[in-house]
This record gives sequence, structure tokens and C-alpha cells, in this order.
Amino acid sequence: MSQYTLPDLPYDFGALEPHLSGQILELHHDKHHAAYVAGANTAVEKLAEARASDELGPPLTGLERNLAFHVSGHLLHSLYWLNMSPDGGERPDGELAAAIDEDLGGIGQLQAQMNAVVATVQGSGWAALSWEPLGQRLVVHQILDHQDNVAGGSLPILVLDAWEHAFYLQYRNVKADYAKAFWNVVNWPDVAERFTRVRGVTLP
Ligand code: MN
Repeated sequence: MSQYTLPDLPYDFGALEPHLSGQILELHHDKHHAAYVAGANTAVEKLAEARASDELGPPLTGLERNLAFHVSGHLLHSLYWLNMSPDGGERPDGELAAAIDEDLGGIGQLQAQMNAVVATVQGSGWAALSWEPLGQRLVVHQILDHQDNVAGGSLPILVLDAWEHAFYLQYRNVKADYAKAFWNVVNWPDVAERFTRVRGVTLP
């Protein structure tokens, strides 16, 4: 059975300073992300046990939800680290920029909507720029916790963690400043490469 594993950060903990502190990155990666990886593996094991023992009653719903929560947390954090870079902050160009213009009205409107998502998440969640394969378009949306409020089949290419653990040690209650600082470290070449890949997906 395949195991989920914690990827290394692609840069040092302090590499995104002053926009994101090394203290936040170390805790966020080594503790929070690691816990989602462990939770994903536990959920896989518990589900296998339930199937093997024929215990497929109502507790199964909780196990399946745990799997969705932890695997989605693992996925989103893995993406978030790669979406950022010490050399980030330029603007998107090429076909990605053209699609952002066409589907979202331009980079300024994309940023404004994602910042608004961060500001208006109730509790814990994420802002995401995703490819929606049915309509063949880019969409900005909230993700509640790690997996709720996501259109089926949508594929995130840029994600911004809006959980308090992502910013509180540095930005306290001023979540808007964290969202603003994020744009200084966005790795647009990474987002553009993902865009090229997800555009090949069509549904149904
Ligand atoms: Mn997080």
C-alpha cells in the first residue's frame, strides 16, 4: 500500500523573509503539514482495517472524511510550498496571463478576489486559483478547511493558505497584510507550468 510522505521544502525556512518568517515556515512544514501526512496514512490504514473486518457501518463516513481532509491538506500544502519562491513576485506572462485576462479580468482582479477570499474565509480555509475542466476556464474560489466548497474536478494551480497557523505568529490579526505579502513570493513560472498541464484535462 502506498504511503504518503512529507516533501522537503524547496528552500530554507528563512528564504521567504521578510514576507513570511522562518519561524512560521518551520512550524508550518515540520508540524502542520507533517500532521496531515500522518493523518492521511492513518486514514488509509483504518479504512483497510474496516474493509478487512467487514465493519462497514456508519463510522465509515468519519474515516472517509478523515481521508479527504488529510489527503487534501497534504496536497494543498505541497502545492503551496512550490507556488512560492525566494525569486518570486514577478507577473504572470504568456498563455497564463492571457487566460487570467480573459477569465478573471486581469491580474489585478485575480489578486483582489483572492485577497477577498482570504479576508472572508469563515474559520479555516484557503484561497485558490483553479482550472475548472467542465467550463474550460480559470476560477477563484474558497476552500473551507481543506476540501469543502470545491467544484468537482477542479484542479488548483495556485493556493494561498488562510488558516491562522499560516500567518498569526508574524501578522497577528492583520490577515490582509499576509495576503498582500504573499504576492511578493508567488512563483509564477510554477503556476504557468501547472496551467499548461491541467489544460489538457477535460471532463466529462
Ligand atoms: Mn497550513
